[in-house]
Amino acid sequence: MTETSQPLDDTASEALEVLHRVFGYASFRGEQRDIIETVVGGGDALVLMPTGGGKSLCYQIPALVRPGVGVVISPLIALMQDQVDALRALGVRAGFLNSTQDYEQRREVEQAFLSGELDLLYLAPERLRVESTTRLLDQGKISLFAIDEAHCVSQWGHDFRPDYLMLSALHERWPDVPRIALTATATEATHREIATRLNLTDAKHFVASFDRPNIQYRIVSKDNPQRQLLDLLRTEHAGDAGIVYCLSRNSVEKTAVFLTQNGIEAVPYHAGLDSRTRAKNQSRFLREDGLVVVATIAFGMGIDKPDVRFVAHLDLPKSVEGYYQETGRAGRDGLPSTAWLAYGLQDVVQQRKMIDTSEGDAAHRRRLGTHLDAMLALCETVQCRREQLLAYFGQKGEPCGNCDTCLIPPESWDGTIPAQKLLSAVYRLQHERNQKFGAGQVIDILLGKTTPKVTQFRHDDLSVFGIGTELKDTEWRGVVRQLLAQGLLAVEGDYGTLLLTEDSAEVLGRRREVMMRREPERALRSSRSSSGGKKKAAVDLSAEATQVFERLRTWRAAVAKEQGIPAYVIFHDATLRQIATDLPGTLAELGKISGVGENKLAKYGEGVLEALAA
Ligand code: ADP
Ligand code: ZN
Repeated sequence: MTETSQPLDDTASEALEVLHRVFGYASFRGEQRDIIETVVGGGDALVLMPTGGGKSLCYQIPALVRPGVGVVISPLIALMQDQVDALRALGVRAGFLNSTQDYEQRREVEQAFLSGELDLLYLAPERLRVESTTRLLDQGKISLFAIDEAHCVSQWGHDFRPDYLMLSALHERWPDVPRIALTATATEATHREIATRLNLTDAKHFVASFDRPNIQYRIVSKDNPQRQLLDLLRTEHAGDAGIVYCLSRNSVEKTAVFLTQNGIEAVPYHAGLDSRTRAKNQSRFLREDGLVVVATIAFGMGIDKPDVRFVAHLDLPKSVEGYYQETGRAGRDGLPSTAWLAYGLQDVVQQRKMIDTSEGDAAHRRRLGTHLDAMLALCETVQCRREQLLAYFGQKGEPCGNCDTCLIPPESWDGTIPAQKLLSAVYRLQHERNQKFGAGQVIDILLGKTTPKVTQFRHDDLSVFGIGTELKDTEWRGVVRQLLAQGLLAVEGDYGTLLLTEDSAEVLGRRREVMMRREPERALRSSRSSSGGKKKAAVDLSAEATQVFERLRTWRAAVAKEQGIPAYVIFHDATLRQIATDLPGTLAELGKISGVGENKLAKYGEGVLEALAA
């Protein structure tokens, strides 16, 4: 009997045995079991599962069960060493080949591959362009191809890698080797594109729910973003690890300095830094407890640090897909985490301008515009954020009770009259004066402010001068923002001048009502913050267990430092929490705890017991 036609029960029990022994987990999660059975049985699979869903086991276990070496194609060169270290800590024989290695290092891995001393081989996609690599693969025995971050094959996505297009050839060259493509990027369009471009014609598709219930989504209106961020970190995330995303390199640098000056340790990350600094900052983020990284979106894909407690955006993401990916890096360990975004009028103006001046044809710009509109709709919704997010990915949800709009529902109000006033001010400037102005001037006119600029242009003569005193300046900015989001107003050029759209006429002609969102007065503080400044990981533990947990963390930090690996590679917080609660007295008891497999028990078991006894 060949390995491709093993009876399913054998496959299932072997996979389960590996799950227990190697990974120390009690049972499969979600569709892991079906996916693993498919691949172990020699079939192809396309897996869409959110970050933290447990994708890695879906190819790691089949690679251990099937004879031969599992080849993992991954674009995450900078993370391969960590991935391999994490597998080795489990007793899995893993290696990688990429451009960061010298000849000797590569040869060593190649030898291990050829002599069957590897379970898993990580490969950068560009290696496959090199004929010597494909020859190497021909000489060994391959158990499966795992194509990680499979959305990189999508030309319209935000992570396109040209080398991924070559992966369609894998099947032609090695027709008997099963392939499993995995991604956390979820739109239906991307899903279809992956299947077509990778030639996954007979693959079984597994689409998990994209909900991340432990992430609390919050979108606030931008006022003084750095201060707002500082407030969030101080009140709710003291001592926590997190990622802060900014649009530009400049604001990345400034924000990192600002946080550091205010007593929060933060490092910058963007494409303008030299590669050594980038690698160092990334490595510190992965290895140290409680560091904040301030980054452009160049940072984060594949970061599998499980205890990222918050992801904050100081600028509006370009698409819902990007927002979901970036926020998804919080809380892979399933513990409560925050996704926080500050957004304001200036974001809309800036993004529209970037679209107007972007390269590419009209169709491309239209697509960018559609992405932005969906993002704006998410920001301005009065409904549950999670529901809307899932709907974007074609999935159903219910009001979640764990997002800002669920926790403190915003009111919606009839903004038709203010909308008419604002649009008519824009209309009059344009038609009576042949002028275009940005939001600031238009709002000053409505508020009846006699600023030098108002006097200079004699805008106090306009019939709309001073007709909008019922709203404050910030409220008017909210009106402009929402009109832009609803496509009832447009913005152009360097100065963000306001223009009417085709739909504006409907509002001006009283044929259309405009509903708006009123920001809640009271800013949301998550219920978790009521536990004081305590570390989140310790929440829910008794006082005694918390003490033990902290002791275990200290032990773990020392071991991690000594071995030069990230702390979470030794044990995740969730495992340490369980140990602190159960207080195992023997190695056998310790081995029953989730996350303690055979190898880790042998390596760290005594150490844990000693730390407990101390
Ligand atoms: P993904 O690659 O989908 O983002 P990972 O494979 O990193 O997710 O898994 C996320 C976390 O869940 C990891 O800490 C992993 O060890 C854990 N995990 C995965 N599968 C299981 C399982 N069956 N039981 C317990 N923990 C699991
Ligand atoms: Zn909700």
